Amino acid sequence: MADIVLDKVTKQFPDGTVAVNEVDLEIADGEFVILVGPSGCGKSTLLNMIAGLEDISSGELRIAGDRVNEKAPRDRDIAMVFQSYALYPNMTVRENMAFPLRLAKLDKATIDQKVGEAAKVLELTELLDRKPANLSGGQRQRVAMGRAIVRSPKAFLMDEPLSNLDAKLRVQMRTVISRLQKRLDTTTVYVTHDQTEAMTLGDRVVVLRAGVVQQVGDPQTLYDHPANLFVAGFIGSPSMNFLGAQVKDGKLETALGEAPVGERIRRQLDKGEVPAELIMGIRPEHFEDAALVDEATRQRGIEFEAPVELVESMGSDKYVYLTVEGERATSAELEELAADAGAADLPAGGANLVTRLSAESRVAEGRPAKVWFNLEKIHLFDPTDGRNVT
Ligand code: ATP
Repeated sequence: MADIVLDKVTKQFPDGTVAVNEVDLEIADGEFVILVGPSGCGKSTLLNMIAGLEDISSGELRIAGDRVNEKAPRDRDIAMVFQSYALYPNMTVRENMAFPLRLAKLDKATIDQKVGEAAKVLELTELLDRKPANLSGGQRQRVAMGRAIVRSPKAFLMDEPLSNLDAKLRVQMRTVISRLQKRLDTTTVYVTHDQTEAMTLGDRVVVLRAGVVQQVGDPQTLYDHPANLFVAGFIGSPSMNFLGAQVKDGKLETALGEAPVGERIRRQLDKGEVPAELIMGIRPEHFEDAALVDEATRQRGIEFEAPVELVESMGSDKYVYLTVEGERATSAELEELAADAGAADLPAGGANLVTRLSAESRVAEGRPAKVWFNLEKIHLFDPTDGRNVT
């Protein structure tokens, strides 16, 4: 059993920078956990502390029940895979993969057997006698993975292992890693700033911002129930739209129109948990061309008209960028949050709303379009602290 437990783990660098701030996290044996967040949020520092490459300033780290804060990296029985493959150029694939086993002084027969097995799993058998220079990027990354798995370590730590690969290879390698992790059932912590990787790879995702955990959950939960504005803006592509909104006399008033608040929000209001001034979040896919929405469905949302700035046809659907009155976010703090989360992938020209409509939609650039959005899918955030109140 190799569960990994972080108990108020903090890293403060000598210059005073707090890169990781009191992180509590329990990673179960065999679990695949993704650490995700924007550049500089502390992902690598956290991973390096688990690996033992970085000292822990305060808090406790336990692997398989043992406190390991003071343990040297080599005594933690953990294998790390980096973005740079760090293969030995003068060794063959076989020798590269055998290297950690030779260090561990295993006999030749055992080494051959373990390397053979790993090569088979990673489809490297044909390439065992090649040198790294004669491999593609994806093949090199598989050798690096192979070198990590031959040791059957307690855990794998991976720091953006796919970021040097082109888009197509990244998708392929995602599948390789996912299958490998399921097959070996080894506890894995994987760092990425790519939210697609985060959503597709792990059992659970940890969203970090400025060294602080924002939310931990399975990908679908993060997507459907983001805890705050930051997570809402970070998870999902294109990002969630944010607009100012008010609740008045049981009505939700927005720049896109008004409607009675739904049952769910009314209950929250009754409990006094919803402030009058709010930020409304709507995902692009929760809009539709109003002409394509039947009457019964229409009741469950708000229809509005807005000029179309740009239409991007994706084949299966289209991204339609609209210009609406009203602020995208209502304060400097929120602008910063949204920018931090990578929100606002907006084209130049003033559009401030991204919608994803069906391919059949007839909306056209330069003309006003009638668009509808589903009120049941909106999120409402408290502008003072960004908390999701819905
Ligand atoms: P990226 O995705 O860009 O790699 P990250 O989320 O992995 O970023 P870290 O590399 O963990 O972020 O860095 C977290 C914070 O700690 C950053 O603000 C960084 O500038 C700071 N930092 C990292 N190393 C040091 C150091 N040796 N001394 C001082 N500050 C540091």
